[in-house]
Amino acid sequence: MCGILGVFNHPQAAELTYFGLHSLQHRGQESAGICVSDGTKFHTHRGAGLVTEAFGQDQHNQLNGNIGIGHVRYTTTGDSGLLNAQPLVFRYTGGQVAIAHNGNLVNARSLRTDLERQGSIFQTNSDTEVIPHLIARAGPPIRKAVQEAFRRIEGAYALLFMTETQLVAAQDPRGFHPLSLGKLDDGWLVASETCAHDVCGAKFVREIEPGEMLVIDKDGLHSSSFVEPNPRSICSFEYIYFARPDSEIDENSVHKVRKELGRQICREMPTEADVVIGVPDSGLAAAIGYAEESGYPYELGMMKNRYVGRTFIQPDQELRRKGVRMKLSVVRQAVEGKRVILVDDSIVRGTTSGRIVEILKNAGATEVHMRVTSPPIMFPCLYGIDTARRMELISATKTPEEICEKIGADSLHFLSEKGMISATDRNDSSKNRGHCLACFSGNYPTNTC
Ligand code: AMP
Ligand code: SF4
Repeated sequence: MCGILGVFNHPQAAELTYFGLHSLQHRGQESAGICVSDGTKFHTHRGAGLVTEAFGQDQHNQLNGNIGIGHVRYTTTGDSGLLNAQPLVFRYTGGQVAIAHNGNLVNARSLRTDLERQGSIFQTNSDTEVIPHLIARAGPPIRKAVQEAFRRIEGAYALLFMTETQLVAAQDPRGFHPLSLGKLDDGWLVASETCAHDVCGAKFVREIEPGEMLVIDKDGLHSSSFVEPNPRSICSFEYIYFARPDSEIDENSVHKVRKELGRQICREMPTEADVVIGVPDSGLAAAIGYAEESGYPYELGMMKNRYVGRTFIQPDQELRRKGVRMKLSVVRQAVEGKRVILVDDSIVRGTTSGRIVEILKNAGATEVHMRVTSPPIMFPCLYGIDTARRMELISATKTPEEICEKIGADSLHFLSEKGMISATDRNDSSKNRGHCLACFSGNYPTNTC
């Protein structure tokens, strides 16, 4: 999971990219970067941390140009430091190219070994860097070079490239992660999520289709397919957890889908209770949906401290446990003496849910019935989402009954795969709308290399 954004033909390209990256901040907090072209030269700034940390007061104002691409990074492959911050910028025989990538290449390691044997010298340890090396070997023009690179890479890649005069957007043949085009005054905007279009004042035009390469230059838009599209495999977790609720994926409101996930789990496992609460933030919409379906009142039962960093990716279990305690607290008045339905989007290692059940009971909840709006996660993700290694996934080694006992809940229900798909689907057979379900089923839509 990373966030990417590109602007074409706008005098404030860097400023818009900067604002747009803020709205994609939830997709990556480890580094941020912007590269802008003034038509002949590139101007680049990258830094560690959040967008505000990476750019300080006004570093984005020093990047002049009317084409730009930006990136917020969340580490999956390679180290998280500044070394791997994007956009990556390189020069090949056709000129300069900058690249920003969301996703993960499953064959990056073997490609890198091949390229190194043939003399390529790598500067980072991120999977993305194999793409510039493949482009450099193919040579200009960029359109042909990118197509040749795509023939060799496998996995998830929503990509933006920038040359001195062009912006190129490309989507892998299965469309794992969203990428969409918007109209922006006399120019264009391409972004991972439609919430960025809204923030930048762009008007949504359409999604970049699986297997599509869209070149934007002074003559307009040039779309081509670089491979036959495969069945769509949009990451189910984009709907369940990652994307912002004010975004749309495949013209499907993420907020609406999350509410429907909550309604669906209520239908699957109706349970007597006094109150419904959600785990902030991604569990809230589903809890509202559950409450509407069940008729039980929705309460703001938990508060999130927004100023504490992420709990999920901290390196050891003890730190993660402490992180959860600092981050989430209970509104005692909402739950005391009550039977609580607790809705969250997922259980990964089980740290968060165990802690939440404990603090709810300490606050006087008489029963806690945990409802999870995704199926059990039993397999690691290969496509850019950090769902932990297989042995760390609690559902890989424990049954739902065992997990329920471990987290101390009175009951636990995971949404069925069928229920999840029905909530995320728009039943529009005219579109290629399949889901990736690999972390639930182990059926990976690509070779796993
Ligand atoms: P855990 O405590 O390991 O069971 O993680 C579950 C919590 O992490 C849930 O509340 C989710 O909202 C959140 N979560 C799920 N997947 C991810 C992810 N890939 N990155 C960060 N947080 C996640
Ligand atoms: Fe998303 Fe899971 Fe597929 Fe990864 S394996 S892309 S997290 S659905």
